[in-house]
Amino acid sequence: MITGLAMRAQVKIEGTVQGVGFRPFVFRLARELDLTGWIVNGADGVMIEVEGAAEAVGRLLEQLRTASPPGAKVERMSVRPVPAVGDSEFTIQPSCEEGAKQLAISPDLATCADCVLELFDPTDRRFRYPWLSCTQCGPRFSMVTGVPYDRANTTMSRFALCEACRAEYEAPENRRFHAESTACPVCGPGLVIWGADGQVSAEGEGALQQTCRIIRAGGIVAVKGVGGFHLWVDATSEEAVQRLRARKRRPHKPFAVMFSSLEAIRRHCTLLPGEAEWLTSPEAPIVILQRLEGTSLTEGVAPGNATVGAMLPYMPLHHLLMRELDGPVVATSGNRSEEPIVTDEQEVRRRLAGIADVFLIHDRPIARPMDDSVVRMARFGPIVLRRARGLVPRTIRLPESIARDVEGPVLAVGGHLKNTVALLDTDRVLLSQHLGDLSTLEAENAVRQAIDDLQWLLHVKPSAVACDLHPDYRSTRLAEELASRWDVPLIRVPHHHAHVAACMAEHGVTGEVLGIAWDGSGFGVDGSLWGGEFLLATYRESERVAHLHPFRLPGGDQAAREPRRAALAVRWETFGAQGCLAGVEEGTEWREQAQLVVAMLAKQIQSPVTTSMGRLFDAVASMLGLCQVASFEGQAAMALEQEGTGASATVDGEDEAYPIPLISRENAPRRWIADWRPMIELIVGDLSRGNEKSRIAHRFHRSVAELIGQVAERVGVRQVVLTGGCFQNVLLADLARARLESAGFVALTHREVPPNDGGLALGQAVIAAIQLGRENRSLR
Ligand SMILES: [Zn+2]
Ligand SMILES: [Zn+2]
Ligand SMILES: [Zn+2]
Repeated sequence: MITGLAMRAQVKIEGTVQGVGFRPFVFRLARELDLTGWIVNGADGVMIEVEGAAEAVGRLLEQLRTASPPGAKVERMSVRPVPAVGDSEFTIQPSCEEGAKQLAISPDLATCADCVLELFDPTDRRFRYPWLSCTQCGPRFSMVTGVPYDRANTTMSRFALCEACRAEYEAPENRRFHAESTACPVCGPGLVIWGADGQVSAEGEGALQQTCRIIRAGGIVAVKGVGGFHLWVDATSEEAVQRLRARKRRPHKPFAVMFSSLEAIRRHCTLLPGEAEWLTSPEAPIVILQRLEGTSLTEGVAPGNATVGAMLPYMPLHHLLMRELDGPVVATSGNRSEEPIVTDEQEVRRRLAGIADVFLIHDRPIARPMDDSVVRMARFGPIVLRRARGLVPRTIRLPESIARDVEGPVLAVGGHLKNTVALLDTDRVLLSQHLGDLSTLEAENAVRQAIDDLQWLLHVKPSAVACDLHPDYRSTRLAEELASRWDVPLIRVPHHHAHVAACMAEHGVTGEVLGIAWDGSGFGVDGSLWGGEFLLATYRESERVAHLHPFRLPGGDQAAREPRRAALAVRWETFGAQGCLAGVEEGTEWREQAQLVVAMLAKQIQSPVTTSMGRLFDAVASMLGLCQVASFEGQAAMALEQEGTGASATVDGEDEAYPIPLISRENAPRRWIADWRPMIELIVGDLSRGNEKSRIAHRFHRSVAELIGQVAERVGVRQVVLTGGCFQNVLLADLARARLESAGFVALTHREVPPNDGGLALGQAVIAAIQLGRENRSLR
C-alpha cells in the first residue's frame, strides 16, 4: 500500500554493474525503503523500476549514486518518471539481452573480507576451500565466454551447483544471490599438484601442503591463478631466486613479490599516500613501492633497485598459501620473457618446461590470459604501467564533444611492445588487457583472441582498422590482413600522435594541445626514428614544433639494448671523433668494440638517425656508469631515475638545470631543435671533477623538465600533454608537471591507460574514428 505522495521511476544504469553484487544491493535497499518494482540485468547494464513514496524513491536514487558495492562503477545513470503500475513487491527479474549492446562485465575482483573470514572459519562449509567467492568478489572477465553475464556464459558452467549452493544462488537476500562464480568443496573446482612428468602427486589440502614444502625448500612452483600461471619461489632465498632467474633467462628485470598482509608489506617497504588503498582495492594490482634496507627480502628480487613491485593475495588460494608460508614470495608471470602469461594446464608443461619444478593446478578453465596490473604512485596520482586484471574490461568514455565527431566502430591494433588492442564504438573505447610484445606466436594468438573478445563484448563489427605507421610491426601486418578480409579502410596513425591523442582522450580534451611524446622510438612521418617530440596536436592532425637534436644510433636495435652505444653516439655528436672514446677504458674488450662502433658512426653505416629521448636517458645512464648493457627495456632509464631520486631530497631547488638551448630551425622561426650537446659537455665536466652521480642524475631530470617548460612558454598553448614511455619515470613526470603548473599551464598525464605503448591503441582508435567521421561527412 502506497501512502503519501507516490511515484514510479525508471532508472537506467550503465557501467560495471553486473557481477559485482549490484542487484542484491538494490533488492535489499528497495525492501528496506518499502518500495516495489523490479531490477533486471540487460546487456547494457541494469534497468530498475521502483514505485513508492516519493521520499523513499529519492533516498534510493541517492544511495545508488553514493553507496554502490565496491566493485561497481556507475558510469551513467538516467532517471525518468513512468506511470505507476502497483506491483506487490520488489523482485529481481531474469536477465534479458534485447536491443542494447553495451558492456557491463566486471573486471576480476580480489577476494572480499567476508569471504576471507569464511575461508578461515572451521565451522563454515567452505572452510579452506580455495575457490570461494560471492557477488562482491571472485573471477569475472577471466572466466566470461559470452554476454549477458550468467553462469552459462562462463567457464564455471561445467560445475553444476550443489543443493546448498543453489539455495544461496536463488535467495535474493543472500550475498551469493546470482554469484556466477560461486562454488563449494562439493560442487566446485578442485586442486591437484603435478610433477614435471605431469603425474598427480597430491590433491586438495595435500597439494597445498606439498606446495608450501617445496617453496620453503627453495623449489619453483607454477601456480594456476585467476588470469594465468605465476611462478612462485621464496623471496627471502637468494639461491632460489637466482635459480628462477637463470631458468627464466631474466638476469635483472624486477620480480613482483606477494606479501601476506599490509603489515607484512610495512616490514619490507615504505607506504606513501594512496599506495595502501591500491593494494587493498578490489583491483589488487602490483604497486611499485620503495624498499626498506636490510630486510629479509633478498636483493635478487630486484637487483640494484630501491623499489619492489608488491601485491597482496587476491584469490582464496593465495590467502591459504600465504598464511601457511608466512613470508614473502616471488609471484612472477608464468611465461618466457615478454610472451603472454600461460593460462592452460596442458600448455603449461610445454611452455614452462625446465622452469617450474611442479605445477599447482585447478580445473576452472581461464578464458583469456590476464596478467597482473601494475600501478605506480607519483606525487600527482597513480600511473598505470600495465593495465590488465582488475582494470579490464572497463570502458573509457569519450565526452559528447568528441563523440559527436567520431565515426566507427574502429578497431585499433596498437604498436609492438607491451601491446594492447582497442575497439571504439560511438562514445566509448574498450581497451584490451596487456598482451605482451608481439614477437612470438603466443602473443599474436592472444592479440587475435582479444580482437574477437572486443567485438562480442561491444556487439559491433569494425568499419575501419587503425594501426601504427611502422611498416614492419606485426600489428601493422595483422591490421592489413584484417582490413582486407573485412573489406574496410585501413588508417595508419603516426606513433607519437597516437600517444598524445590517447592522453587527450582519457581527459576528454578537445581543442589544441602541446603534446610532449617521449619514448624509446617510434616511426616518424619523415621515416626516421622519433622519440623526443613536441607536437602541436588535435585529434585531426599533429605538427612537430620541436624535437631533440638528432643523432645516429650505431647498430640500430642493438643500440637500444646497449646504452654504452647510445653514450658513444651522443659523445660523437658532441665532441666528434676525437673526444668520442675518451670515456672508454683502454685495453678492455669493449674498447675494441667501441672503435668499431665509432667507425660505423664515421661511415654512417647501420646507424639510423633518431631524436629519441629514451636513448638520451640511456646515454646519460651509461656515462654515469649505471648501466652498459640492458637485459630488459627501460633498465637504464630506471637506474638513472633511481640515482636522481636519491638526490632529490637534499638538492631539490639548489642545482640549476643544465642548459638545453632551443635553436630555431632554418626558415621556420617558430620551430625548434633542442640542442642537448651543451648539457652533455657539462655532464662530462661534472664527472671528471668527481661530482656526485646522484646530483648529476637529478640535474639531468631537472634539465629535461625545464626544456618542457621552455618549449611550452614559446608555443603558448595552455594544455600540455605528457606521454610516452619516458613518463613512466615518476621523477621526470613530477618535475615536468611542477615546472608547467608553476608557469600556469595545465599539465595532463595518463590516469587510466599506460603512458607507454600499452596506451597507443586508444589514441589510434580516436584519431582514426575522427578522420573517418570527417571523410564521411564530406561525402554526404
Ligand atoms: Zn566475497
Ligand atoms: Zn556447492
Ligand atoms: Zn611509443
